[in-house]
Amino acid sequence: MTMHDVALSTYPVGILCDHCMHRVLMSAGALKASRGDRRTLAEAGVRCGKCGSTRFEATLFHAPSGPTRFMRSM
Ligand SMILES: [Zn+2]
Repeated sequence: MTMHDVALSTYPVGILCDHCMHRVLMSAGALKASRGDRRTLAEAGVRCGKCGSTRFEATLFHAPSGPTRFMRSM
């Protein structure tokens, strides 16, 4: 996933840290994502908000239920 994909996403992106399992939803605006930006999230400076790790899984959602399920599946 690149910052371009995030910019085009209708819904917030789910970020799950591989290190501490912290989950967070981030909007394209909060991530400062812009169209045409082909950097990955980690390359663009996205870090786990809890432990600061750059090793995380990012998930794009295509329905409003996606973010809700993501935050519930702890
Ligand atoms: Zn973490």
